[in-house]
Amino acid sequence: MSQPNHRPSTLATTTLPKVVRAKGSYLWDANGKQYIDGSGGPAVYSIGHANEEVNAAIIAQLQNIAHGYRYNFTTDALEELTEILRDRCGGDLREMVYVTGGSEAVESCLKIALQYQTAIGQKSRRIFISRERSWHGNTFGSMGVSGFVERTVAYEGAFIPSVKLSPANEYRPIAGATAETAGAAAAAELEAAILRLGPEKVAAFIFEPVVGAAGGCVPAPPGYAAKVREICSRYGVLMISDEVMSGAGRTGTWRALAYDGVEPDIMSVAKGLAAGYQPLGVAIYSTKIHEAIIAADGAIGTGHTFTGHTTACAAGVAVQKIIQREGLLDRVKANGPRLKSWLGEALAGVDAIGDIRGRGHFICAELVANRATKAPFPAERKLFAKIRAQAMQNGLICYPVGGNVDGVNGDIVIFAPPYNCTDAELTEIVDKGARSIREVLTAEGLA
Ligand code: PMP
Repeated sequence: MSQPNHRPSTLATTTLPKVVRAKGSYLWDANGKQYIDGSGGPAVYSIGHANEEVNAAIIAQLQNIAHGYRYNFTTDALEELTEILRDRCGGDLREMVYVTGGSEAVESCLKIALQYQTAIGQKSRRIFISRERSWHGNTFGSMGVSGFVERTVAYEGAFIPSVKLSPANEYRPIAGATAETAGAAAAAELEAAILRLGPEKVAAFIFEPVVGAAGGCVPAPPGYAAKVREICSRYGVLMISDEVMSGAGRTGTWRALAYDGVEPDIMSVAKGLAAGYQPLGVAIYSTKIHEAIIAADGAIGTGHTFTGHTTACAAGVAVQKIIQREGLLDRVKANGPRLKSWLGEALAGVDAIGDIRGRGHFICAELVANRATKAPFPAERKLFAKIRAQAMQNGLICYPVGGNVDGVNGDIVIFAPPYNCTDAELTEIVDKGARSIREVLTAEGLA
């Protein structure tokens, strides 16, 4: 049988193994080869595979009703998940629109922002501001606000109005800034953009509080998020935190932005929410926004056939209960510094390692051709793809991305293990990851 056509372009000519079974942190292919899950796929499988409690909750839901359609019914699963998420988010973030994944969640955030601006008489606010080296999704709205040229170039010219600012990155600060001033410089750039465009034209600023695939686990520089909050509030610009990848506990707090002590107006969460057991994402937004929209329009305008899908919500409830009961957020938080230092030790003496960064179970190594200048390796070398293949060979799933087409990033290798990985499993992931990187660099004559 031919391979399916859903492989990413970077793997278009690769023959992939067929996965047939998984348990906890391990997966097996049709030849019986074992892989350890060092990245949860793309940071999805937050509690490992084939969890019996989650499977039982899904089966129980299916035996009652798979999907209670939102025009006709509410459901226990929907209500219970909403209470759980209200509790995890705290503050004014009490309203949810459930969808089937990250792009739909971001799309919903953008629509909620526009509906709110219209509802409060600010219909001129149609422009979104975002950052280069960001990824917000594969649908038109979410892709349009994404700064990820490799993925968007084929569609340019057809996107919603948006303006891209420089990345907020301590390792690669804006020209003229240092690691210490990177956050302030990035925030100042936002304020200048709002003033240049005219605040009355700007609907929202969307950003990843810990940048994922487009940058490689780049945490917001200290103080940056608080400044952005201030600026957004000052100019009536909504703050949208895209936590599709970094949220639901991945970085050690349920909301990634809670680490910075900041509450956004709207946020998106997906991957880890139902941990891959069902496709589930959510746009979460404030009571203030909800009340304004209800007063003006009577209802939130965005929603899909599978909004609030009952079985997906039941999976989300089961996953979130396990994370809470087993204290996994504390474990993830404590493991962040350990993972970074283990990876640093395992890669000690490798000249090509420019930076090791991240938070919680969301850690990345960035490879550069020159540590002093931070110049990336040429894109044609496709180091990231070679590392992915070598890791698979070594029985490790990790998440390498080539960020260097625009010359801004080096190749990155993301590690995002399940929250409940044992120490022995974390060590295996780090050892195999470091070995795969070293082997590729040696084979390429770069070691
Ligand atoms: N936002 C972010 C921050 C993401 O990392 C992703 C997926 N990598 C998306 C949105 C899109 O999510 P999905 O692939 O589930 O549509």
